[in-house]
Amino acid sequence: MIKVTDKSKCSGCTACYAVCPHQAISMKPDALGFLYPEVDMDRCTDCGLCERKCDFVNAQPSSMSFPEKLSVFAARNADPQVLESSQSGGVFPALSKAVISVGGVVYGAAFRPDFTVAHMRSADLKGCAAFRGSKYVQSELGDSFINVRNDLEDGKTVLFSGTPCQVAGLLSYLPERLRQNLVTVDFICHGVPSPAVWKDYVRYMRKKGEIMSVNFRDKSAGGWKVHAESFTYAHGKKVFRETYKVMYYKNVMLRRSCASCPYDYKGRKSDIVMADFWGIEEFLTHWDGNSGTSMLMALSAKGHEWIARASEDLMLEAAEVPSELISRRNPNLMRPSKIYHESRMFEESYPEKGFIYAARRWGDLGWRYRAWKLKVLIRKMTGRK
Ligand SMILES: Cc1cc2nc3c(=O)[nH]c(=O)nc-3n(C[C@H](O)[C@H](O)[C@H](O)COP(=O)(O)OP(=O)(O)OC[C@H]3O[C@@H](n4cnc5c(N)ncnc54)[C@H](O)[C@@H]3O)c2cc1C
Ligand code: SF4
Ligand code: SF4
Ligand code: SF4
Repeated sequence: MIKVTDKSKCSGCTACYAVCPHQAISMKPDALGFLYPEVDMDRCTDCGLCERKCDFVNAQPSSMSFPEKLSVFAARNADPQVLESSQSGGVFPALSKAVISVGGVVYGAAFRPDFTVAHMRSADLKGCAAFRGSKYVQSELGDSFINVRNDLEDGKTVLFSGTPCQVAGLLSYLPERLRQNLVTVDFICHGVPSPAVWKDYVRYMRKKGEIMSVNFRDKSAGGWKVHAESFTYAHGKKVFRETYKVMYYKNVMLRRSCASCPYDYKGRKSDIVMADFWGIEEFLTHWDGNSGTSMLMALSAKGHEWIARASEDLMLEAAEVPSELISRRNPNLMRPSKIYHESRMFEESYPEKGFIYAARRWGDLGWRYRAWKLKVLIRKMTGRK
């Protein structure tokens, strides 16, 4: 039976939870809100199925080497409103529309009313709008894998989007015979931050008033290339902050498994990969601009087919991109994020000292960040590197 003794070996994908024939597994949060499986020994028959279905542990290193060039698409949604509310080029809404138009259903990450993030199911375009925008926190899957299976058993076409580990977990859970009508989409993944920190940040921002909506990376802050979170209040004001972003990119609050992630370009299992097309201005110069451009990759014939079906809502251009450009501008396609020793300090101090302490120590609330900013400014002004 599954027993997580090393947190770096569990992505929280829920495949073991969903597959257990005796419902002996529940997903329990640790102090940072990351979910891990816990087995009820009174129910477990020690059949070993959960261990066999753990893709994260069983993932074999791929023998495929990185090609010098990668075949990708540059893509942008033709509808400016969809583009504005999507994170990159709004390719996921176009794929969702194609699947809904054949009577299919879509799974994606959306906000609950309290702004925690969970996977949800939608059979119409209105519901799919909630999936737009990256939520930089681990999304709670709940019973999504079981619901996907039920939809596939009913003969529905299913589009499932998630992190590469969520997609790999779903594919491992599903029997081969059900995969024909399943289309999976993941993204180049920097890693997922702690749900507890996100929850505490929202609570902290609530002190300023009732929050009506939040956005992890709001394009209205200055376009696609600017990364700032926003909070819109009932009194009408929208507030931009970078506290969470600064903590995210310090890699201190990521799930431990993200440092040993096997789902790089070679290891991922999805049909389609989405990403921000960072560096496009160096390569396809006529695509430059700050409204958002996606990079799309089809990893299977099914992936190619659904990109073609979505293409009527997209500006799309096929390109061969040097791997070096992607490795430089979007390194997580080639390797996992580095998690530094400070993440242990973060993990140990957070439950006791809480959000404000962490945001002062690792975010932009304290003197450390201001001192660093000043240093960068002086270097810029004096031309020193
Ligand atoms: C945690 C995280 C890390 C990422 N890291 C990178 C990176 O390193 N490099 C890069 O190029 N791109 C990264 N992305 C992807 C990128 O931000 C865009 O989401 C992607 O390019 C799709 O943009 P879009 O405009 O087509 O989709 P949108 O219309 O904005 O739709 C967003 C899609 O992402 C899914 N999604 C959103 N939040 C989550 C979540 N928490 N868990 C699972 N699925 C989610 C939704 O279900 C939907 O399918 C990351 C996204 C997330 C959520
Ligand atoms: S060993 Fe079998 S019964 Fe026990 S938790 Fe795993 S799947 Fe369930
Ligand atoms: S990675 Fe997934 S299948 Fe493996 S132990 Fe964790 S939740 Fe279970
Ligand atoms: S970095 Fe890997 S382990 Fe972490 S969320 Fe992304 S796919 Fe999962």
